[in-house]
Amino acid sequence: MVLPLHREAMTRYRCSVCNMYTYDSEKGDPGTGILPGTEPAGFPDSWKCPFCGSAKIHLKPLDD
Ligand SMILES: [Zn+2]
Repeated sequence: MVLPLHREAMTRYRCSVCNMYTYDSEKGDPGTGILPGTEPAGFPDSWKCPFCGSAKIHLKPLDD
């Protein structure tokens, strides 16, 4: 298997604590006040996973 030369940036993340919440940076998340195009690093420090209340540092990139 050969990887493409130009991979898409990883834009989807999942909460590693509850494994229920997923975030797509192309769409943002209106439910938690995140605008489209925002990466988790740009979330407010007060952001919490809507499922388990964990901080943004627990969002891990999904590679699919
Ligand atoms: Zn969570």
